[in-house]
Amino acid sequence: MAEPSSERAPAPSSLKNADWLKRPQVVRVFQALSKNGVATRAVGGAVRNSLLGLPVTEIDFATTALPERVMALARAADLKAVPTGIEHGTVTVVADGTPFEVTTLRRDVETYGRHAKIAFTEDWEEDAHRRDFTLNALYADRHGTVFDPLGGYADLVAGRVRFIGKAEDRIKEDYLRILRFFRFNAYYGKGPLEPEGVAACVRLRTGLAQLSAERIAGELRRILIAPKAARAVEALFDHGLLTDLLGGVPRMVRFERLVAVEEALGLAPDPALRLAALAVFVAEDAERLAARLKLSNAELSVLLLGANDHERAELPGEVAARRSLYELGPCKFEAHLLLAAADEGAAPGDERWRRALRLADRWQVPEFPVRGSDITALGDVRGPEIGAALQRLEAEWIASDFTLDRAALLVRAVELIRTAPKQDR
Ligand code: ATP
Ligand code: MG
Repeated sequence: MAEPSSERAPAPSSLKNADWLKRPQVVRVFQALSKNGVATRAVGGAVRNSLLGLPVTEIDFATTALPERVMALARAADLKAVPTGIEHGTVTVVADGTPFEVTTLRRDVETYGRHAKIAFTEDWEEDAHRRDFTLNALYADRHGTVFDPLGGYADLVAGRVRFIGKAEDRIKEDYLRILRFFRFNAYYGKGPLEPEGVAACVRLRTGLAQLSAERIAGELRRILIAPKAARAVEALFDHGLLTDLLGGVPRMVRFERLVAVEEALGLAPDPALRLAALAVFVAEDAERLAARLKLSNAELSVLLLGANDHERAELPGEVAARRSLYELGPCKFEAHLLLAAADEGAAPGDERWRRALRLADRWQVPEFPVRGSDITALGDVRGPEIGAALQRLEAEWIASDFTLDRAALLVRAVELIRTAPKQDR
C-alpha cells in the first residue's frame, strides 16, 4: 500500500533545468492552461523519466480546468484542441504539430476495465490516487517544481514499482495493470518485485483474458524490448502468466540468448523478433500468436523466421551469408542471423557472428542483371516460360555466388529456351 513517504525518504530535486520544460510547444501549452486560477502540471512518464535523467519523449498534462475549458483555453491561445477522450477528461492539445494529452484532475468513482465512472476534482492528491503506481503519480509545474503526493520519488529511486492503494483492488479495476506492473518493472525495477503487487497479479491473472488483444499486445511489445526484458519475461514465466499470454510454451533459453547477443552487439531490439525467439517453434505458432494478439503482417513475417530450422544453426560461411542477405533483404537477414546465433548458443559478443551480421556493410547486394524483356527479345517465348526461365537463371546466378554476368546469363537463357519443353502449343 502506498503510504506518504517516511521522514528519511528522498525528496525529488527540481526539474527547473530540464530541457523538455523549455521546448516551445510545452511552454505554449503551459501558458495557455495557466490562466485565471487554472493550474496545469506535467504528469507521469515525462516527470518520472526526467527525474531519472532518461530521455523525455511524450509529455502528458494534468489540469484543474474542466475539459470544455481546456478546449476553450487552448483555442484562445491558437492551439488545436481535439476532444479525444472527453468523457473521461482527456483533450489532445496540439502545439506546432506536437500532440499533448491534457486530462482534467479526476477520481474514479467506479471502474469497469477502461470504462471508469469518474468525477472531476480540483484536488491533486485525489488525482494521484486514481493512477496506477506511485512512480507514475509525480507531477511537475512549468517552473520544474516537482509534486510527489504519494512518495513516488522514493520508490522511483529504489526501483520499486508499487501499486497505489490495495494492489488487488486496483487490478480488479483494470486488469491491464497486471501487465503494466511487469512493464514498469522491466524499465525501472531494481531488486525483487514488490511482494504485494506480484502476489495480486498472480491471484488475478485470469483477468487478463478480459483484455482486448490490442491492449495486451501493446504492453507485451514494450515489455519485450525493455532494458530489463529478460528479467520481466522470466518473472512472467515464474509466476505462471507467460504461458497464458502466449497461448503456448515459451522458449526461455533462446529468448535470453537473443537478448544477450543483441545487447553485446549494441543492436536496437525489435519486439517481433524477440517474440519470435520466445514463442515460435513452428509456423503454426507464429500464425496462432499473430491471430491471438492481432499483430500486423509485418510482425507475422518476422515471427515466421522463428520457425526456421535453427536447431542445426551454425555460423554461415561468407557465400551462404551472401545468399541469405540477397534472399531475405537486410532486415530479415539480421533477424535470421540473430535467431541462429541464439540457437547456436554463440557467446554474446562473438566476433564471428558480429562480422556475419555486418555483411551488408562490406558487400553491396547486387541486382539480378536479367529482365523479362531480355527473355522476350530472344524470340518465341510466352508468359509462363519467361517466368520459369528467369527463376532458373536467377537460381544459377545465386549458385555462382553472383559471379555470372549479364552476357553469360543471356547465353544460358538461349540454351534454356531452346531446350525448354514447349507447352500447349
Ligand atoms: P509511458 O508514456 O512511458 O508509457 P506513462 O507513465 O506516461 O509512461 P501513459 O500510459 O502515457 O504512461 O499514462 C500516463 C499516466 O496516466 C501514467 O503515468 C499513470 O499515472 C496514468 N495511467 C495510465 N494508464 C493507467 C492505468 N491503466 N491505470 C491507472 N493509471 C494509468
Ligand atoms: Mg505517457
